[in-house]
Amino acid sequence: SAKLPVMMEERKKTFDANEAALLVKELNESFRTGKTKSYEWRVSQLKSIEKMVVEREKDICEALYKDLSKPELEAFVSEIAMVKSSCKEALKELKQWMKPEKAKTSMETYPSSAEIVSEPLGTVLVISTWNYPFALSVKPVIGAITAGNATVLKPSEIAPATSSLLSKLFEEYLDRSAVRVVEGDVPQTTALLEQKWDKIFYTGSPRVGRIIMTAAAKHLTPVVLELGGKCPAVIDSDVDLQVTARRIVAGKWQANNGQACISVDYIITTKDFAPKLIDALRKGIEECFGTDPMESKDISRIVSSNHFSRLLSLMDEYKVYNKIVVGGQRNQKELKIAPTIFLDVPGDSKLMQEEIFGPLLPIITVGNVKDSIDLINSKTKPLAAYLFTNNDMLKNYFVQSVSSGGMVINDTVLHVTVSSLPFGGVGESGMGSYHGKFSFDAFSHKKAVLYRSFSGDATVRYPPYTPEKQKL
Ligand code: NAD
Repeated sequence: SAKLPVMMEERKKTFDANEAALLVKELNESFRTGKTKSYEWRVSQLKSIEKMVVEREKDICEALYKDLSKPELEAFVSEIAMVKSSCKEALKELKQWMKPEKAKTSMETYPSSAEIVSEPLGTVLVISTWNYPFALSVKPVIGAITAGNATVLKPSEIAPATSSLLSKLFEEYLDRSAVRVVEGDVPQTTALLEQKWDKIFYTGSPRVGRIIMTAAAKHLTPVVLELGGKCPAVIDSDVDLQVTARRIVAGKWQANNGQACISVDYIITTKDFAPKLIDALRKGIEECFGTDPMESKDISRIVSSNHFSRLLSLMDEYKVYNKIVVGGQRNQKELKIAPTIFLDVPGDSKLMQEEIFGPLLPIITVGNVKDSIDLINSKTKPLAAYLFTNNDMLKNYFVQSVSSGGMVINDTVLHVTVSSLPFGGVGESGMGSYHGKFSFDAFSHKKAVLYRSFSGDATVRYPPYTPEKQKL
């Protein structure tokens, strides 16, 4: 097994469009045998994933630590437990999900019955990203398996330890005739994208989302795009300040040090309230990460030197220089950046124009909290939007007037844990959704089936269209 990583390195380099075509052919053949459609196969694979997660928890935590210095508890809660609960729910509900759904019929078809049959799409491709490299790879694969598809997973090369572990674990635990991992970066992904898939499920940036959709269009392949965006948090002045600050700290820095698609990207609050909020956030950061967060073991590092430089360029732009009110420390060698808060940066600064995806948090002030809605709506639609208030009218107004993938009132990020809610974007933050039954649906075709008998055959339907028939 010592040779295994080397072999994978080799495989990565040689994987080209021909190999990709062979892989798709092989998986299509498996799919055509019908094995992946059976309830038993789906259950066996889900159970294997459960087993894999339980038996290899330590390896998974180690890989996540290598890739992101992800604290073990955070790795457990946000990656391992998420995968476990998805498996558990799928195993419990699968029979019900697979059942055809009765549908109403029309007068024209009387007598008849109708149902909606969920059928697998075929061979699907899951391309995942680096920030939750385990959960965001395995969760869509669980969806694809529950729906009865053959699946190829392409994890992110930016989290190489997790990518290589996934490749190893899938070989060990899952049915390789129908579930496979291909490691690699742009050339390998491009080779995969040249093939005809029955669905592509992509998690990553809107920029690459466009590349994925363009490639998919050539084959009329449907896509789910789980993308990003600038997720705002609006803070009213009537809130419980301590709880609000803690929940923002959790939704920003605790969540992978801001490297999460639904982490708070920027805050909008009123001018008067901003100083109190900043004080509370400073305290909240100190409570979680101590007086020197650069020394804390409870915060992830920045994933790569490219992302580190990108974040530095946002921090050090002349327009935001001197706007730092909390944090600002960085350590190039260890790829660490402290939780950093900026006050009132200009709207045309890079900090307010680009998705931050890191520990930097600008606070923008407005005269009236309602003005925040215009600011949010002047930007592309975010994946999540947050509002903290005690005012029911404002809650209602916010829900009605802000368009975002999802929303949480008086907290951050927690909607991701509610599997009865669809998780996905709108507009620039993506299309399609998953989690729970939505994952099953994302990888199924809803086939309309109408059942008729030979009785009740109304002749009026058939030509010739005699005057008597026309009167009816
Ligand atoms: P990334 O660079 O890891 O890219 C994601 C995937 O795209 C990888 O598998 C990568 O190999 C592939 N890829 C990169 N360039 C490609 C190209 N030119 N052609 C084909 N494939 C290519 O991740 P990222 O894009 O830096 O991820 C960050 C983004 O992901 C952020 O915008 C974030 O908001 C978003 N995100 C969204 C979700 C969600 O659930 N909606 C979750 C996490 C991250």
